[in-house]
Amino acid sequence: MSCHICQGELSGNDTASCHLCYRDFHLAMTIQSTVVDCGQIFMDNDSLALAFVCNACVDERPSQWAPAG
Ligand SMILES: [Zn+2]
Ligand SMILES: [Zn+2]
Repeated sequence: MSCHICQGELSGNDTASCHLCYRDFHLAMTIQSTVVDCGQIFMDNDSLALAFVCNACVDERPSQWAPAG
């Protein structure tokens, strides 16, 4: 399995599935992780749920979402 953003191999826990396109990408899940993020975490201001969004979809995110953290 590989990241659809950078084409690099996805390994272990530092993987997220995009909320919009459902493809997998790199996202550092721990402070110790050294992976380069290929997406971001957004918060849905309506449901207050966190969602992972790949860089390819960041510009298409729903307007009620705000960057988390
Ligand atoms: Zn990647
Ligand atoms: Zn996406």
